[in-house]
Amino acid sequence: MHTSAPISTSPTATVEDYLALLYVFERDGQPAIATRLAEQVGVSLPTATATVKRMVRDGWVSLDEKKGIHLTPDGDQIARSVMRRHYLVESLLRHVLGVPWSRIHEEAHAIEHTITDDTLERMQGKLKNPLTCPHGNPLPGEEQMVAHWVKLIEMKAGESGTLRRIHEIAENNHDLMAFLETNGLMPGAKITVREVMPFNQTLTLEVSGSPVVLGAATAEWLYVDQNHRSESKH
Ligand SMILES: [Zn+2]
Ligand SMILES: [Zn+2]
Repeated sequence: MHTSAPISTSPTATVEDYLALLYVFERDGQPAIATRLAEQVGVSLPTATATVKRMVRDGWVSLDEKKGIHLTPDGDQIARSVMRRHYLVESLLRHVLGVPWSRIHEEAHAIEHTITDDTLERMQGKLKNPLTCPHGNPLPGEEQMVAHWVKLIEMKAGESGTLRRIHEIAENNHDLMAFLETNGLMPGAKITVREVMPFNQTLTLEVSGSPVVLGAATAEWLYVDQNHRSESKH
C-alpha cells in the first residue's frame, strides 16, 4: 500500500477554462492578464488571481511581470486539447443536432470537459475533419487558414466580402450572438460596408440586401474574407 500524495496530472474544468482562454489570448496577440481572465470567466479579480497562482504552482502557466501569464508546454498541450474539444462539440451541436448557432458556444462550454479522446476522434471523423468551429475560429494547428481574413472594423465604405469569423471572445456574449444570428451575420454571409461613421462609432453594412448597423466594438470581433479582390490582381 503506498501512501505518497497523488500527483495531479489532469486539470480541473476551471483550470481547463483558464488555459483555453490564455491560449486564445496568445493566439490572437491579446494581453494575457488576470483582469481579462476574470472578465471572461465572470469571477472577481482576486478569484482569478488565486486560480492563476495555483496554476503556476501546478506547472500549467508561468508568470512574467511584463509579459503577463504564459502557457507552459504542458499548459499549452491541455489548452489545445480543450479548444479542439470545444470546437468539435460546437460543430456536432450545430451540424448534426441542429442546435441554433447562437447557443452552441455556451452549450459546448458545459460539455467539453468530459469528452474522451476516443469520442473526440469519432466526432472528428463524423464531422469530416472541420478546420474551424461554426463561428469560423480555427482548430489548433489550422491558424494559417484564417490569417488573411481582415477585421471588419478595418474595412472602408464600398468594400465587400464574405463574413468568415466571429472571434471566440465575442461568442461569450449571448445577446451579441443572438443579434448576429437574427441579422444573418454568420460565416458565409455576403456583406458590403455602406457607411462608416467614426464619430458615431458605427458602421452600416448591407447583408443580403438589408442594412444592419453595427457598433465599432462589435465590428472589432468580426473577420471578412476579401479574397476576390486579391485574386483580381492576377
Ligand atoms: Zn466557442
Ligand atoms: Zn465557435
